[in-house]
Formats: sequence, structure tokens, C-alpha cells
Amino acid sequence: MPDSTQKNFDIIIVGAGMVGASLACGLALQDDLNIAVIDAQKPVFDWDENSYDMRVSAITRASQELFKSIGAWDRMLAQRVSPYQEMVVWDAASSGKIHFDSADMGEPDLGHIIENRVIVRALHQRMAELDNISLFCPQKLVDMNEMEDAITVTLEAGAQLEAKLLVAADGTRSWVRQKADIAVKGWDFDQAALVTTVKTSDYHHDTAWQRFLPTGPLAFLPLPGGYSSIVWSTSPDEARRLTEIDKKQFAEELEQAFESRLGRIESVAGRAVFPLRLFETLHYVKPRLALVGDAAHTIHPLAGQGVNLGLSDVQSLLSVIKEAREENRDFGALKVLRRYERWRRADNRAMLVAMDTLKRMFGSELAPVKEVRQLGLNILDKVTPLKNLIMHQAMGLK
Ligand SMILES: Cc1cc2nc3c(=O)[nH]c(=O)nc-3n(C[C@H](O)[C@H](O)[C@H](O)COP(=O)(O)OP(=O)(O)OC[C@H]3O[C@@H](n4cnc5c(N)ncnc54)[C@H](O)[C@@H]3O)c2cc1C
Repeated sequence: MPDSTQKNFDIIIVGAGMVGASLACGLALQDDLNIAVIDAQKPVFDWDENSYDMRVSAITRASQELFKSIGAWDRMLAQRVSPYQEMVVWDAASSGKIHFDSADMGEPDLGHIIENRVIVRALHQRMAELDNISLFCPQKLVDMNEMEDAITVTLEAGAQLEAKLLVAADGTRSWVRQKADIAVKGWDFDQAALVTTVKTSDYHHDTAWQRFLPTGPLAFLPLPGGYSSIVWSTSPDEARRLTEIDKKQFAEELEQAFESRLGRIESVAGRAVFPLRLFETLHYVKPRLALVGDAAHTIHPLAGQGVNLGLSDVQSLLSVIKEAREENRDFGALKVLRRYERWRRADNRAMLVAMDTLKRMFGSELAPVKEVRQLGLNILDKVTPLKNLIMHQAMGLK
């Protein structure tokens, strides 16, 4: 059992969401590291197993491999995951369409749709098995001080913890990032995502469907039992309206927006709206501090890459810390942490720019842009090696 009175750690992680909890498990598997994990909110682990979480993530092969390596994947499999073999993307304003099939790539699937609560529960179960992780939850941070050789934090209950490195995994509105005065550079999308779960009269064929509407993308992500998780990106006002109309009218509007590709919408679960942002921090690291996941970069969900980028941050930071320890170097020193920053910034920025370009291209009503995207999608659809290359990248396979 971890010692809850312990105050000195090697690494403190703030945020035990999908990214922070994965990092904690990965670090705990490196010899002799003592990890403190702090989260302001206690996750809920009991729910009606017949219901679906309205928040899901499309988990790539690379992220699946990370979950396997830290011993959490089997726990997700034992709960509920939904592999998808195909992906169909089409444009509402033109006849452009592209279809990806895992069979063309010799892969069993293109990835898995997993409810966020399943991922978090599996990771917390795994953390509880690892003796060198101490979980402080629910606990809020009220202060943080960087010193030359260590960093300290004060918890709301008064306890002070100290470590050689603090990792901020506390999400898009990161308290740690603000306290450390790390600025962000971003674009305002003026978009929000409406999420819900629906049952359709036709089976989804284990396919992820996405239609680009002029107002934003609409995705149907396959869940077990013929259910689909909906992510409908649109203007904040429209998203709010869509949550306020009754379920019958919502079902009709959703069916129409999706061209009834999966038949009738037979049932609609609860609806919620999330504001969408796109930003990257100007720095990922400072002495004794590293940012990972949404705390460092937040992107549009249209390509389902947000948490996957965060899990790639985890993979890189694990590797940088391991190497530094093997060379007897101080893993909290800026020089070491800069390696992590250089490694991740290039990948994350490329994805940020790609998402922004896609969003703008598909949002444009200008005739030449519409033609280019129709032509582009249709040509791309016929060039299998190029298509496979794109999907290879999207799956996180190098
Ligand atoms: C509608 C929508 C759909 C999405 N779909 C996908 C998808 O299909 N695939 C994909 O890869 N990504 C997707 N994303 C993005 C993905 O959800 C995020 O990238 C991911 O949740 C980020 O994980 P995280 O652990 O970095 O942050 P979070 O999940 O935000 O976790 C942060 C944790 O920190 C804790 N915390 C916050 N503040 C404090 C504090 N002050 N002190 C202590 N703890 C604190 C919180 O309680 C939480 O547990 C989607 C996003 C949206 C909005």
C-alpha cells in the first residue's frame, strides 16, 4: 500500500484523466520511482452498464500499444471497446467522398471507439495495483513553487508535497500552466460540439462515419449493440438550440443532417455541449515542470486525435525520463526536459495546423475551394497507397 503521509516524491502528476493516469502507470513501472498523482475530482466508477458514456474517444493503434505496455488494455477489453474496420468521410456541399478500410492495410481494424469512463476506470484500477503511486483525490492545488533542485505544491487540505519534477496533465484549462505563467497561442473556432448516443434502425457496420457540413463535421462513431456516439460540431448557438429542442425533433434534424445513412434514429440519450478550442502552449517545459495532453495542446475533435496526441506525449516523456535516469542525469533539469519539448512540439504542431486547415477547407462555401475538396477527396479515394499512408499516420503507426 502506498504511504499517504509521504511528502517527498520523484515525480508529481497533476491530473488523473486519461493522459495523467497513463503517465503515472508508465512511470510506476520504471524501477524505484515514487509517484504522487493529484486530481481535484473523484471519478465515478459505478454506472448502469446498459448505458453509454456520452464522451468517447477514437483510440489509435499507437495508444492501444501504450495501454498494453502499462497493463491497462486488458482491463478495457474486459469492460467494453468497439473496434471499427472502416471509415467513410463525405462532403455535404459536393460529391467528394473517401472510404478507408482496414482490410486494404492488412490490419484487423483502424482503431477502437472507447467510452472515456471505461478508459479512466481501467487506468485507475491499474494505478491502484502499483504500490509506488500515491493518489491524492479529491484534492485541489492551492500553491506551487519552483526551486532549483525541487518543486513543491500545497494541497487545499494543507499538505505540502515535494518532487524533482511536476507534470501538468490537468486538461485544457490547466491551473498549473496558468500558475507557471506559460502562455498559449491559439485560434478561436467559435464552435461547440454536441455529444449524445443514439440507436439507429440500420447497423453501423463497425464503421466510423463523418459528414462535413458547412457548419462543421458530424460524426457517428460505432458502439456495441448498434448504438452510435454522436459528435456534432457547429456554432455555439446552434449547439445550444439542438440541446433544447425535444428528442423527437432532434432525432429528425440529426437524421436529415446525416442523410439517413443509418436509417431512422430510434432513440436519443442525454445531450451535452462542449466548447471547442485550438491552442498550443508557447513552452511545454520549464525547469522542474512539463506539460502533457490537453494542458499543452487542445485541438478540434474532427479527426479524433486529441487524447492520442496526449498519449504520444506520455510515450515520449517516459522515454526521455528513462534515458536520463540511465545516464544518471537529473530528469527535472531544463536541458533534459527540452528534449521532450522538441520531440513533441513538431508532431503536435503539424496535427494542429492540419486540423485547422481541414476545418477551414470544409467550412468554406467558396466555389473553387468546394471543387478542390471534391476533386481532392475523390482522387485520394482512388489512390490506395496514398490513402494507406494517411491512415497509417492517423493510426499513429510509424
Ligand atoms: C466532443 C469531444 C470529442 C472528442 N473526441 C476525441 C476522440 O475521438 N479521440 C481523441 O483522441 N480525442 C478526443 N477528444 C479530445 C480528448 O477528449 C482530450 O484530448 C482528452 O480528454 C485530454 O485528456 P487529458 O487527460 O489531457 O485531460 P482531461 O481529460 O481534461 O483530464 C484532466 C484531469 O485533470 C483534473 N484537473 C483539472 N484541474 C485540476 C486541478 N486544478 N487540480 C487537480 N486536478 C485537476 C481533472 O479532474 C481531470 O481528471 C474529444 C474532445 C471533445 C471535446
